Amino acid sequence: MTAILEALVVDGLVTERSALSDFTTYKFGGPARWLAEVGDSSSLDRVVEAVTDQPDLEVAVVGRGSNLVVSDRGFDGLVLRLVGGFLDVAIEDDLVVAGGAAPLPRVAREAVKAGRGGLEFYVGIPGSVGGAVRMNAGCHGTETDEVLVAADVVNIRSGERSTRTPAELEMAYRHSNLQPDEMVVSARFQTSDQTSEVGERRLREITQWRKENQPGGTFNAGSVFKNPPDDHAGRIIDELGLKGLQIGGASVSERHANFFVAEPDTSAQNIHDLVAEVRRRVAEATGVTLEPEIMFIGDFS
Ligand SMILES: Cc1cc2nc3c(=O)[nH]c(=O)nc-3n(C[C@H](O)[C@H](O)[C@H](O)COP(=O)(O)OP(=O)(O)OC[C@H]3O[C@@H](n4cnc5c(N)ncnc54)[C@H](O)[C@@H]3O)c2cc1C
Repeated sequence: MTAILEALVVDGLVTERSALSDFTTYKFGGPARWLAEVGDSSSLDRVVEAVTDQPDLEVAVVGRGSNLVVSDRGFDGLVLRLVGGFLDVAIEDDLVVAGGAAPLPRVAREAVKAGRGGLEFYVGIPGSVGGAVRMNAGCHGTETDEVLVAADVVNIRSGERSTRTPAELEMAYRHSNLQPDEMVVSARFQTSDQTSEVGERRLREITQWRKENQPGGTFNAGSVFKNPPDDHAGRIIDELGLKGLQIGGASVSERHANFFVAEPDTSAQNIHDLVAEVRRRVAEATGVTLEPEIMFIGDFS
């Protein structure tokens, strides 16, 4: 560890052996070797400076952890989380400007409150703005690349800043070209005129749909696999009778076959193994190779 990183530990900006489990919706996984929680640009600059001269240091960005499985052994590198000012959401004419850590449901609600339409779908996605850009998150007929004007990105290793449009981010279904050492610090979204009443109704409809169709009250990370072209991963898994398939405390949800739910004391390895097992069975039975949508951080057996 360089003197600069050591100084950040002493300063309290970086902590050592910090638990990551509380930062994910699955609520399991080991600690990060180092964790930097940055709430403003100058703190981010200091972390970037510490990382720049360490090519062997692995880095990872964690948002609201709603699409993540962190290894039980943790992550032997530096994890960055945006906090503080990066949670802000502002309305500027017909644009919504949000920090990289802003929760998507808040983005949806703030836009509706201001009489702006088009971002209501975010009320159902428990991620952050940065995670939504990285994953091109979407639902209920809208994907992030349809509403994103541009995202401000910082390269954690070089400090290089860029502003990128959806085309420059090569956004496609649950995909962007963002690399593990690139972090979205803010984003601008296009909205349309819409009364708050219409927006509120749409928020209620989406929230209700989620309650009726997804396994609420369980630890999960949303859809485990991407949908194959013209099909649904959940339909394929369901048709093979895999609902309820269990490894340790991890099981295929009885409610939605593409959600894998976890008991409180489940290990990340159980989820990893269940993903591998379902993938194997689907490939064997149908010839379709399902591609995971959830992201894994750290080492798995
Ligand atoms: C109940 C439930 C329902 C869900 N429904 C949907 C849905 O309908 N549609 C959908 O698309 N997804 C859905 N998801 C998945 C998830 O919410 C989205 O993928 C979300 O965009 C992830 O954001 P996050 O902040 O939680 O990212 P994380 O899980 O923290 O990270 C996911 C990836 O994004 C990267 N990342 C996070 N923050 C940043 C940043 N600031 N800059 C750069 N990279 C970053 C991480 O490094 C990682 O590679 C659901 C999840 C749950 C638990």
